[in-house]
Order: sequence, then structure tokens, then C-alpha cells
Amino acid sequence: MKKEADNTTPTIADTITKSKKRTRNVYQLKPKPEPEPEPWFTIGDIEDIQFREYEVAEIRASLLKWYDINQRDLPWRRIIEGEATDDDEIDRKAYAVWVSEIMLQQTRVQTVISYFNLWMDKWPTVHHLAQASIEEVNEVWAGLGYYRRARFLLEGAKMVVEEGGKFPRSVSDLRKVKGIGEYTAGAIASIAFKEAVPVVDGNVIRVIARLKTISANPKDKATIKNIWRLAGQLVDNHRPGDFNQAVMELGATLCTPLSPSCSSCPVSTQCSALLKTKHDSSALVTDYPTKVAKVKQRHDYSAVTVVEILESEQGTVSISDSGSKFLLVKRPEEGLLAGLWEFPSVSLNVKADLVTRRRAVDDFLKNSFGLNVHRSSNIVSRDEVGEYVHIFTHIRLNMYIELLVLRSQDLHRKKNKGLMTFKYVDAKTLATMGLSTGVRKAYNMVQKFKQSRSSLISR
Ligand code: SF4
Repeated sequence: MKKEADNTTPTIADTITKSKKRTRNVYQLKPKPEPEPEPWFTIGDIEDIQFREYEVAEIRASLLKWYDINQRDLPWRRIIEGEATDDDEIDRKAYAVWVSEIMLQQTRVQTVISYFNLWMDKWPTVHHLAQASIEEVNEVWAGLGYYRRARFLLEGAKMVVEEGGKFPRSVSDLRKVKGIGEYTAGAIASIAFKEAVPVVDGNVIRVIARLKTISANPKDKATIKNIWRLAGQLVDNHRPGDFNQAVMELGATLCTPLSPSCSSCPVSTQCSALLKTKHDSSALVTDYPTKVAKVKQRHDYSAVTVVEILESEQGTVSISDSGSKFLLVKRPEEGLLAGLWEFPSVSLNVKADLVTRRRAVDDFLKNSFGLNVHRSSNIVSRDEVGEYVHIFTHIRLNMYIELLVLRSQDLHRKKNKGLMTFKYVDAKTLATMGLSTGVRKAYNMVQKFKQSRSSLISR
């Protein structure tokens, strides 16, 4: 915020003028005024920060030249490079930008490459994607995390197809599509439609904060708004898509969070943070953007029961899982891992011992499926398998995993639990389903447990 002018405090200029009026000697005895601060120290309110015209021209030219030579060869770039010759090609490019940008949000490029290739093989256009089921989409997405984004991609594709099959051609219209936010709309519009609009992600925030020594909190809404404004100043009118990708590429490859390669940087001569380090030995370019305390992770606990139902009447647990079925329950359509299938799980408020966890699981199985674990003659075994910690962005989830093996028995959902959906799947189906990393891990732990138990028995 700008400070109001303080009318009561005399400025240096006032003092000098008044002193001059009194005697020349008094003026001469006054201490020498401080030299004008250097430009990189003068930055005050973020609203006042601007790129000068010559800076914009230099940054655009240097970055585009560098990007033309140094851009990484990535599968989505092979689709989006070159001039589109018709509307269908523009839409194919828009679709590739959309899918890649959604996948890249908070996931490393190297991880995304194989997912992107698989996705585009299966659904090369928005029309193909619109025909997919959520199960198929989750299957391809499995392991990327943030499953809501996959669901939104599917819902967005359906919207685009229902509206005629063409992507909206401007940022404002793109934003009406499910799952397309400000960043993704900017990326699609600038890369596929050549609209001169900026994009701002973590890389862009870092690069601009360093170029302009912005010390305001980078998580603050006002700061982000101003970074968008500055990115808008910089974006090249003729090659907006390339320019936006160049800034992000610079942030991803050279202007990295902890060890930027300033000596190879194409915009080092326009970088205030680097300039500052040359005048102040205690300054580091990594002082920008300002580090802010991470949001404290919440600790959650969950008792997970892998319920295996033996199809054979022998009642022996097979390591291969052939002849077994597993009970899966669908998560609610809102919230964490919305709509995904998982093994029956009970949330615990606090860290709990085995007895407490089993009590919670017993209640759940009884109330949901009418299964009385203590009375049923169908229980073959019940074993504690182990613990797994799954990290979400703000949640640290401790999963306590158990294996409960039942003889062939149909579980029936209790009438008053009408909202819960469940199914049985065999091991083969389980292997190809779109399951979250946590569920996949629980299953693998159960497999390992069964293998180690079987080798103990056979000794
Ligand atoms: S000179 Fe260094 S800090 Fe500045 S933009 Fe380039 S890599 Fe980043």
C-alpha cells in the first residue's frame, strides 16, 4: 500500500531550503545528503513496478532467441509447433496444450511424458476423449495424483463436444469450460490461438520476482495479480505462445529455485537480483521470490482393510490371487480422491492402536455390509500387514493395512447405506484399474505379506 504523505515531517529539501534562508554557514555544516539509492533498492510497492520499454524489448528478443535454440524436445511440443493450416489442426494443438498443461500442474516433466503419450494414443482428439468413461480416464491417469483434474478433463471434453466440438478461441470463453482456469486458458490461447495473453505459474513468478527483485509474499493474491500484470507487459505480441513457454522453460531449466545458472542466462543483463548481488555481497538471487512458511501438513489416519473373498470352497489363501475377488468401495464424488475405488477404509481421528482400529473396521463392515467379523464362520484369516504413509500436498495420511480373508460369501450393502457403491473385482481387473497410489501400495503390501507368509509355511 502506498503511504500517505506526512505533512508534518520536513523533507531534506525543506531543511536545506530553510537552512539556506538562515545562514550560508549553517547550510554548509549540514551533513552531506545520502546518495540516491540504486534502482534495485528503490522498489517499493509492487503496484508501482513496471518493465521499461527497452527492458521489454531486450527480454523478448533474448528469451525467444534462447528458446529457439534451447527448448527441450517434449512430445506435446511436437504437436503444437509449426503453423496450423486449418481449424481442425488448431483444435488438435489446443487439445494437446490442454492435456499437457493439466498433467504438468505440480508434476515433473519427466513423469508426465509417458502419461501424455499414453493419453494421446488412446484419445488423440477432444472427440475421442469425450467418448471415454471415468473409469478409463482414471486408469490412464493412475499415479499422477490430483484425480479431480482428470475428471475435469473428461467433463470439459464433453462440454466442448456438446458445444459443437471446437475449442472456444479466447481466454474468456475458454474459462467457461470445466477445469480450465486462468493459467490453462492463457496457455491454450497464447500457444494454440496466438492470443497475446500471459501465463503465470511458479516458474514465471520466480523469474519475474528475480528480474524485478520483488520481495512481496509470492503467495499473496495481490502479488500474484501484479505478476500477471508484469507478465502481460512482457508477452510478445507476435509469438505469445513461444514467449510464454520460454519464460517457463527458463524457470524450469536455468532460473531454478535453489541453484540458478545465471552465467548461462539469456536475460542476466536485465536481472535486478543478479545486479544486486554485484553490489551487495550478502545478497543472493535466491532471496527472490521471498520464502514463505509452508502450510503445516495435517496428519490423518486411516484403517484400510483389504477384503479378499475366496471363490473356492477350500478356504485356502492363494498367493496368485486366482480364484479370489477383492471388495472395492467407491469414494464420495466430492473431496479427496473423489469418485475413485479403494479398499474399505475407515478414517480415524487420531493415531490408534490395533484394537481400536479393528473396532472401527468391525463397526464399518457390520453397518455397511452386515458382516459380523466375530460371529461369521466365513472368516479364514485376519492379519495386520503394515503401515504406509502417503503424502498429499497438505495431508500426511498414515494408512494401517490389514488383510481380511473370507470364504465365498456375498456381502450385501445395508439398505440405509444407499449412497455407498461397491463391487468385487478379480486380481486381473485390479491390476488394470485406475487406482490411487495409496490403494496400489496397500495391494502390493498385501501381496508381499502373502508371499512372505507362504515361504515361512513351506520351510
Ligand atoms: S540471471 Fe539468474 S536469477 Fe536472474 S533470471 Fe537469470 S537465472 Fe534467474
